[in-house]
Amino acid sequence: MRGAAPRPFALLGDPVDHSVSPALHAAAFRALGVEASYLALSVRSGELEPVMRAFARGGGGNVTVPHKTGAAEVLDVASAAVRRTEACNCFWGDDRGRLVGDNTDVGGFLGAVRAWDEAPALEGADVLLLGAGGAARAVALALLDARCGSLHLLNRTRERAVALARRLDPGGEVVRVLEGQHEVSGPYDLAVNATSLGLDPDDPLPFDPVEAHTAAAFDLVYAPEGTAWVREARRSNIPAVDGREMLVRQAGLSLERWLATEPPLDAMRRALRGALAPRP
Ligand code: NAP
Repeated sequence: MRGAAPRPFALLGDPVDHSVSPALHAAAFRALGVEASYLALSVRSGELEPVMRAFARGGGGNVTVPHKTGAAEVLDVASAAVRRTEACNCFWGDDRGRLVGDNTDVGGFLGAVRAWDEAPALEGADVLLLGAGGAARAVALALLDARCGSLHLLNRTRERAVALARRLDPGGEVVRVLEGQHEVSGPYDLAVNATSLGLDPDDPLPFDPVEAHTAAAFDLVYAPEGTAWVREARRSNIPAVDGREMLVRQAGLSLERWLATEPPLDAMRRALRGALAPRP
Protein backbone atom coordinates (compact mmCIF):
# COMPACT_ATOMS: atom_id res chain seq x y z
CA MET A 1 0.00 0.00 0.00
CA ARG A 2 2.11 2.88 -1.28
CA GLY A 3 1.68 6.07 0.73
CA ALA A 4 0.10 4.44 3.81
CA ALA A 5 1.93 4.98 7.11
CA PRO A 6 4.07 1.94 8.04
CA ARG A 7 2.43 -0.26 10.66
CA PRO A 8 4.28 0.20 13.99
CA PHE A 9 5.75 -2.80 15.84
CA ALA A 10 8.27 -2.93 18.71
CA LEU A 11 10.14 -5.16 21.10
CA LEU A 12 9.63 -3.93 24.67
CA GLY A 13 12.08 -4.98 27.38
CA ASP A 14 14.97 -3.77 29.49
CA PRO A 15 17.65 -4.09 28.21
CA VAL A 16 16.96 -4.60 24.48
CA ASP A 17 20.15 -3.15 22.92
CA HIS A 18 21.55 -6.47 21.67
CA SER A 19 18.29 -7.99 20.48
CA VAL A 20 18.25 -9.64 17.05
CA SER A 21 14.43 -9.37 16.81
CA PRO A 22 14.46 -6.10 14.79
CA ALA A 23 16.69 -7.77 12.13
CA LEU A 24 14.40 -10.83 11.96
CA HIS A 25 11.20 -8.82 11.63
CA ALA A 26 12.65 -6.28 9.20
CA ALA A 27 13.67 -9.19 6.93
CA ALA A 28 10.21 -10.73 7.26
CA PHE A 29 8.38 -7.47 6.42
CA ARG A 30 10.68 -7.02 3.39
CA ALA A 31 10.07 -10.58 2.17
CA LEU A 32 6.31 -10.13 2.57
CA GLY A 33 6.26 -6.65 1.03
CA VAL A 34 4.57 -5.24 4.16
CA GLU A 35 5.08 -1.56 5.05
CA ALA A 36 5.95 -1.81 8.72
CA SER A 37 8.61 -0.76 11.22
CA TYR A 38 10.01 -2.73 14.19
CA LEU A 39 11.92 -0.94 16.94
CA ALA A 40 13.66 -2.25 20.06
CA LEU A 41 12.52 -0.03 22.95
CA SER A 42 13.81 -0.08 26.49
CA VAL A 43 10.81 0.57 28.75
CA ARG A 44 10.27 0.68 32.51
CA SER A 45 7.43 -1.22 34.20
CA GLY A 46 5.29 1.90 34.67
CA GLU A 47 5.52 2.73 30.95
CA LEU A 48 4.67 -0.76 29.71
CA GLU A 49 0.88 -0.58 29.38
CA PRO A 50 0.66 2.84 27.64
CA VAL A 51 3.45 1.87 25.24
CA MET A 52 1.77 -1.49 24.45
CA ARG A 53 -1.55 0.28 23.80
CA ALA A 54 0.12 2.86 21.57
CA PHE A 55 1.75 0.19 19.37
CA ALA A 56 -1.41 -1.94 19.37
CA ARG A 57 -3.19 0.85 17.46
CA GLY A 58 -2.39 -0.36 13.95
CA GLY A 59 0.44 -2.69 14.96
CA GLY A 60 1.73 -4.61 17.97
CA GLY A 61 4.96 -6.11 19.21
CA ASN A 62 6.88 -8.47 21.40
CA VAL A 63 7.76 -8.35 25.07
CA THR A 64 10.93 -9.67 26.65
CA VAL A 65 12.67 -9.83 30.05
CA PRO A 66 11.65 -8.45 32.53
CA HIS A 67 8.13 -7.56 31.31
CA LYS A 68 6.47 -10.81 30.15
CA THR A 69 4.49 -11.21 33.39
CA GLY A 70 3.60 -7.51 33.55
CA ALA A 71 2.39 -7.62 29.94
CA ALA A 72 0.12 -10.59 30.71
CA GLU A 73 -1.55 -8.55 33.46
CA VAL A 74 -2.59 -5.57 31.30
CA LEU A 75 -4.15 -7.43 28.35
CA ASP A 76 -7.85 -7.07 27.54
CA VAL A 77 -7.85 -10.49 25.84
CA ALA A 78 -5.31 -13.17 26.85
CA SER A 79 -4.79 -16.45 24.98
CA ALA A 80 -4.96 -19.75 26.85
CA ALA A 81 -1.14 -19.93 26.69
CA VAL A 82 -0.88 -16.51 28.40
CA ARG A 83 -3.40 -17.47 31.07
CA ARG A 84 -1.63 -20.76 31.81
CA THR A 85 1.93 -19.38 31.83
CA GLU A 86 1.02 -15.90 33.15
CA ALA A 87 3.49 -14.60 30.55
CA CYS A 88 2.88 -12.67 27.30
CA ASN A 89 5.59 -12.21 24.66
CA CYS A 90 3.42 -11.06 21.74
CA PHE A 91 0.64 -8.43 21.59
CA TRP A 92 -1.49 -6.57 19.06
CA GLY A 93 -4.75 -4.65 18.77
CA ASP A 94 -7.95 -6.22 17.47
CA ASP A 95 -10.64 -4.56 15.35
CA ARG A 96 -12.56 -3.60 18.52
CA GLY A 97 -9.56 -1.68 19.88
CA ARG A 98 -8.74 -4.31 22.51
CA LEU A 99 -5.20 -5.21 23.57
CA VAL A 100 -4.72 -8.91 22.74
CA GLY A 101 -1.77 -11.12 23.71
CA ASP A 102 -0.32 -14.56 23.24
CA ASN A 103 2.75 -16.54 24.33
CA THR A 104 4.45 -17.67 21.12
CA ASP A 105 7.41 -19.19 23.01
CA VAL A 106 5.13 -22.22 23.59
CA GLY A 107 4.55 -22.92 19.89
CA GLY A 108 8.07 -21.73 19.02
CA PHE A 109 9.59 -24.42 21.24
CA LEU A 110 7.27 -27.14 19.91
CA GLY A 111 7.88 -26.11 16.30
CA ALA A 112 11.65 -26.17 16.79
CA VAL A 113 11.59 -29.62 18.41
CA ARG A 114 9.37 -30.97 15.63
CA ALA A 115 11.68 -29.51 12.96
CA TRP A 116 14.73 -31.16 14.58
CA ASP A 117 15.36 -34.52 12.92
CA GLU A 118 17.17 -36.00 15.95
CA ALA A 119 14.52 -34.96 18.47
CA PRO A 120 12.85 -37.63 20.57
CA ALA A 121 9.07 -38.10 20.33
CA LEU A 122 7.65 -35.84 23.05
CA GLU A 123 4.61 -37.98 23.78
CA GLY A 124 5.53 -40.22 26.70
CA ALA A 125 9.06 -38.72 26.97
CA ASP A 126 10.85 -38.32 30.30
CA VAL A 127 12.20 -34.76 30.31
CA LEU A 128 14.61 -32.81 32.51
CA LEU A 129 13.86 -29.06 32.44
CA LEU A 130 16.49 -26.70 33.86
CA GLY A 131 15.10 -23.32 34.92
CA ALA A 132 11.77 -21.94 36.15
CA GLY A 133 11.65 -18.43 34.66
CA GLY A 134 9.39 -17.13 31.88
CA ALA A 135 10.89 -19.33 29.15
CA ALA A 136 10.77 -22.46 31.32
CA ARG A 137 7.06 -21.86 31.95
CA ALA A 138 6.42 -21.80 28.19
CA VAL A 139 8.50 -24.95 27.63
CA ALA A 140 6.78 -26.77 30.49
CA LEU A 141 3.34 -25.93 29.05
CA ALA A 142 4.43 -27.09 25.59
CA LEU A 143 5.73 -30.39 27.01
CA LEU A 144 2.58 -31.02 29.05
CA ASP A 145 0.37 -30.26 26.04
CA ALA A 146 2.52 -32.67 23.99
CA ARG A 147 1.75 -35.31 26.70
CA CYS A 148 5.29 -35.92 27.89
CA GLY A 149 5.47 -38.86 30.29
CA SER A 150 7.27 -37.09 33.13
CA LEU A 151 8.75 -33.62 33.62
CA HIS A 152 11.55 -33.15 36.15
CA LEU A 153 12.19 -29.51 37.11
CA LEU A 154 15.48 -28.27 38.50
CA ASN A 155 15.98 -24.60 39.32
CA ARG A 156 18.52 -22.65 41.37
CA THR A 157 15.63 -21.13 43.35
CA ARG A 158 13.58 -24.23 44.13
CA GLU A 159 10.46 -22.27 45.21
CA ARG A 160 10.06 -20.94 41.67
CA ALA A 161 10.05 -24.50 40.31
CA VAL A 162 7.48 -25.48 42.96
CA ALA A 163 5.26 -22.54 41.92
CA LEU A 164 5.59 -23.52 38.25
CA ALA A 165 4.66 -27.14 39.02
CA ARG A 166 1.62 -26.06 41.08
CA ARG A 167 0.41 -23.74 38.33
CA LEU A 168 0.67 -26.21 35.44
CA ASP A 169 0.17 -29.56 37.14
CA PRO A 170 -1.73 -28.96 40.39
CA GLY A 171 -2.38 -32.69 40.84
CA GLY A 172 1.35 -33.48 40.56
CA GLU A 173 0.65 -36.19 38.00
CA VAL A 174 3.46 -35.43 35.54
CA VAL A 175 5.70 -32.74 37.05
CA ARG A 176 8.23 -33.48 39.77
CA VAL A 177 10.42 -30.80 41.36
CA LEU A 178 13.97 -31.96 42.10
CA GLU A 179 15.55 -30.97 45.42
CA GLY A 180 18.94 -30.28 43.87
CA GLN A 181 21.54 -31.45 41.37
CA HIS A 182 22.05 -34.70 43.33
CA GLU A 183 18.52 -35.77 42.30
CA VAL A 184 19.27 -35.56 38.58
CA SER A 185 19.64 -39.22 37.76
CA GLY A 186 18.01 -39.97 34.41
CA PRO A 187 17.82 -41.60 32.04
CA TYR A 188 15.95 -38.78 30.26
CA ASP A 189 14.80 -38.71 26.66
CA LEU A 190 15.41 -34.98 26.55
CA ALA A 191 17.10 -32.32 28.70
CA VAL A 192 16.16 -28.68 28.11
CA ASN A 193 18.17 -25.68 29.30
CA ALA A 194 15.78 -22.78 29.96
CA THR A 195 18.12 -20.99 32.36
CA SER A 196 20.08 -17.98 31.18
CA LEU A 197 23.37 -19.85 31.72
CA GLY A 198 25.31 -19.75 28.46
CA LEU A 199 24.43 -16.16 27.55
CA ASP A 200 27.86 -15.16 28.85
CA PRO A 201 30.72 -17.27 27.41
CA ASP A 202 32.25 -17.44 30.92
CA ASP A 203 29.13 -19.07 32.42
CA PRO A 204 29.43 -22.59 33.82
CA LEU A 205 27.42 -25.30 32.02
CA PRO A 206 23.81 -25.50 33.24
CA PHE A 207 24.37 -29.23 33.88
CA ASP A 208 26.73 -31.91 32.60
CA PRO A 209 24.73 -33.60 29.82
CA VAL A 210 26.58 -36.91 30.31
CA GLU A 211 25.88 -36.97 34.05
CA ALA A 212 22.22 -36.23 33.31
CA HIS A 213 22.04 -39.46 31.24
CA THR A 214 20.01 -37.71 28.59
CA ALA A 215 19.48 -38.98 25.05
CA ALA A 216 19.13 -35.46 23.58
CA ALA A 217 19.68 -31.84 24.66
CA PHE A 218 17.85 -28.64 23.67
CA ASP A 219 19.33 -25.29 24.72
CA LEU A 220 17.07 -22.23 24.57
CA VAL A 221 20.16 -20.03 24.67
CA TYR A 222 21.59 -19.45 21.18
CA ALA A 223 24.97 -18.61 19.70
CA PRO A 224 26.41 -18.48 16.15
CA GLU A 225 28.21 -21.86 16.47
CA GLY A 226 25.88 -23.32 19.10
CA THR A 227 26.36 -22.84 22.83
CA ALA A 228 29.02 -24.43 25.06
CA TRP A 229 26.33 -26.80 26.42
CA VAL A 230 25.40 -27.93 22.90
CA ARG A 231 29.07 -28.47 22.00
CA GLU A 232 29.66 -30.42 25.22
CA ALA A 233 26.68 -32.70 24.53
CA ARG A 234 27.74 -33.32 20.93
CA ARG A 235 31.29 -34.18 22.05
CA SER A 236 29.67 -37.06 23.95
CA ASN A 237 27.56 -38.05 20.92
CA ILE A 238 24.37 -36.66 22.45
CA PRO A 239 22.30 -34.95 19.71
CA ALA A 240 21.87 -31.29 20.69
CA VAL A 241 20.55 -28.00 19.29
CA ASP A 242 20.56 -24.42 20.51
CA GLY A 243 17.69 -21.90 20.55
CA ARG A 244 18.07 -20.30 17.09
CA GLU A 245 15.27 -22.24 15.43
CA MET A 246 12.96 -21.59 18.40
CA LEU A 247 13.75 -17.89 18.15
CA VAL A 248 12.83 -17.83 14.46
CA ARG A 249 9.65 -19.83 15.06
CA GLN A 250 8.35 -17.74 17.96
CA ALA A 251 8.97 -14.66 15.80
CA GLY A 252 7.17 -16.37 12.90
CA LEU A 253 4.17 -17.14 15.10
CA SER A 254 4.10 -13.48 16.19
CA LEU A 255 3.94 -12.44 12.52
CA GLU A 256 1.07 -14.85 11.96
CA ARG A 257 -0.85 -13.23 14.84
CA TRP A 258 -0.21 -9.68 13.54
CA LEU A 259 -0.62 -10.18 9.79
CA ALA A 260 -2.60 -13.44 9.44
CA THR A 261 -0.07 -14.64 6.90
CA GLU A 262 2.48 -17.45 6.52
CA PRO A 263 5.83 -16.22 7.95
CA PRO A 264 8.87 -16.23 5.59
CA LEU A 265 10.97 -18.46 7.89
CA ASP A 266 13.89 -18.88 5.47
CA ALA A 267 14.33 -15.11 5.10
CA MET A 268 14.20 -14.85 8.90
CA ARG A 269 16.81 -17.62 9.36
CA ARG A 270 19.12 -15.80 6.92
CA ALA A 271 18.61 -12.53 8.81
CA LEU A 272 19.41 -14.27 12.11
CA ARG A 273 22.64 -15.71 10.68
CA GLY A 274 23.63 -12.20 9.55
CA ALA A 275 22.71 -10.62 12.89
CA LEU A 276 24.74 -13.19 14.85
CA ALA A 277 27.79 -13.17 12.55
CA PRO A 278 30.91 -11.74 14.22
CA ARG A 279 31.55 -8.11 13.27
CA PRO A 280 34.90 -7.58 11.43
P1 NAP B 1 14.20 -15.40 33.37
O1 NAP B 1 12.73 -15.38 33.54
O2 NAP B 1 15.04 -14.27 33.87
O3 NAP B 1 14.71 -16.77 34.05
C1 NAP B 1 16.09 -17.07 34.14
C2 NAP B 1 16.28 -18.51 34.63
O4 NAP B 1 17.70 -18.79 34.65
C3 NAP B 1 15.76 -18.76 36.05
O5 NAP B 1 15.33 -20.09 36.15
C4 NAP B 1 17.05 -18.52 36.89
O6 NAP B 1 17.04 -19.18 38.12
C5 NAP B 1 18.08 -19.16 35.99
N1 NAP B 1 19.43 -18.65 36.26
C6 NAP B 1 19.89 -17.40 36.02
N2 NAP B 1 21.19 -17.30 36.39
C7 NAP B 1 21.53 -18.51 36.91
C8 NAP B 1 22.72 -19.04 37.46
N3 NAP B 1 23.83 -18.28 37.59
N4 NAP B 1 22.75 -20.34 37.86
C9 NAP B 1 21.64 -21.10 37.74
N5 NAP B 1 20.46 -20.65 37.21
C10 NAP B 1 20.42 -19.38 36.81
O7 NAP B 1 14.60 -15.55 31.83
P2 NAP B 1 13.77 -16.34 30.70
O8 NAP B 1 12.89 -15.41 29.98
O9 NAP B 1 13.18 -17.54 31.32
O10 NAP B 1 14.95 -16.73 29.70
C11 NAP B 1 15.86 -17.78 29.99
C12 NAP B 1 16.78 -17.99 28.79
O11 NAP B 1 16.03 -18.48 27.69
C13 NAP B 1 17.47 -16.71 28.31
O12 NAP B 1 18.81 -17.03 28.01
C14 NAP B 1 16.73 -16.34 27.06
O13 NAP B 1 17.57 -15.68 26.11
C15 NAP B 1 16.34 -17.72 26.53
N6 NAP B 1 15.14 -17.68 25.69
C16 NAP B 1 15.28 -18.11 24.39
C17 NAP B 1 14.18 -18.11 23.56
C18 NAP B 1 14.34 -18.60 22.15
O14 NAP B 1 13.43 -18.36 21.34
N7 NAP B 1 15.41 -19.28 21.82
C19 NAP B 1 12.93 -17.67 24.02
C20 NAP B 1 12.83 -17.23 25.35
C21 NAP B 1 13.96 -17.25 26.16
P3 NAP B 1 16.41 -18.45 39.44
O15 NAP B 1 14.93 -18.69 39.37
O16 NAP B 1 17.08 -19.12 40.56
O17 NAP B 1 16.78 -16.99 39.34
